[in-house]
Parts: sequence; structure tokens; C-alpha cells
Amino acid sequence: MDIELNDRRVLIVEDEPHIAEIIDAFLAREGAHRLLARDGDDALTAAGYWRPDVVVLDLKLPKRDGYSVLSELRARQGPPVVILSALGEDVDKLTGFRLGCDDYMVKPFNPLELVARLKAVLRRAQDSAANKSLVVGDLRVDIDAHEAQCAGTPLTLTPTEFRILRLLAMRAGRLVTRGQIIEAAMGDE
Ligand code: CA
Repeated sequence: MDIELNDRRVLIVEDEPHIAEIIDAFLAREGAHRLLARDGDDALTAAGYWRPDVVVLDLKLPKRDGYSVLSELRARQGPPVVILSALGEDVDKLTGFRLGCDDYMVKPFNPLELVARLKAVLRRAQDSAANKSLVVGDLRVDIDAHEAQCAGTPLTLTPTEFRILRLLAMRAGRLVTRGQIIEAAMGDE
């Protein structure tokens, strides 16, 4: 399935008005909702209340730089982040990726490439969200929330039962050995 930016919320963090305008115009053409933050503090406030699907993040910003914004977003789990910066040295990129950015583009940039990369990042985020729940027939196991449902009805499970069910759902249709079940039942303890 193609990932579109239509109706997606994109937070643009950029203090240079003409660059912000270019990004905004290209995202508007894709039907995305846009919000502009002109400094690092604004960016975090906006990310908190507006819940963007993805963030385009400049690094050299007033008040709080992009690295600091990125690490704060990652501490909150936050949305995927594409850095868009004039800083094009390897060390800048490596710092960005170490702090958890999802992609890194160097200015001057091609707005169409930015759009393509935003779509790719959203696609990856969607895939990884899908991987957090397992669906087998009527059964749905939500790995992160430690919850399971059968045909929409929540199941009441002990932690041990949940771990066994998760194992069986992960290996649906394949052989599960007694040893694997015991190991799952024991959990981390
Ligand atoms: Ca800047």
C-alpha cells in the first residue's frame, strides 16, 4: 500500500522563513496538515499538543537546538523525525542518528526528495506499529500493552498466560516445543 501524506500532520521546525515556506508549499500540495515551529521550545510545545505524525527538524535553531529537540522527542517516544540541516558533516549525521532521527537530509535540498523521504519514514513507522500486535484469526495480541482480545472481547490473562499466548500467536501454524512453552511461561524471572 502506498503511503500518502494526505491528511498527515507534519510539524515543520525551521527558523528560516523562506525555507519553511518552500517545505510548507510542497507539503500542502500533498494534502498534509502543517504546523510551523520557529524555535526549539516551540517545537516541543507543538509536538506535545498537536501530536504530529512526522517532524521535519532543522538543527540550528533559536532557544534550543535541533539535537536537544530530538533527544527530548525520543525520551517521550515521539513521532519519526527527519533532520533537514545545513550541517552536512559525517559527525553531524552520526550525532543525529545516534540521538534517534529516522532520516537526515542536507541543505540545499530538493523538496520532492524531502516529500519522498517523509513518506518512506511514515511507511517504516506504520510497519513497526503493525508489528507490535499479532493477529491470528479472531485473536489479537498487543505486545506492548500486554493485552489480548478474542473477536473484540478482552481476555483476562495472568502474565504467564499472556506470555504463552504471545508465543503461540507468534508461531501460529508452526510447531511449538514443550521447552519453548516452558521458557515463555517462565518469562524473564
Ligand atoms: Ca536554522
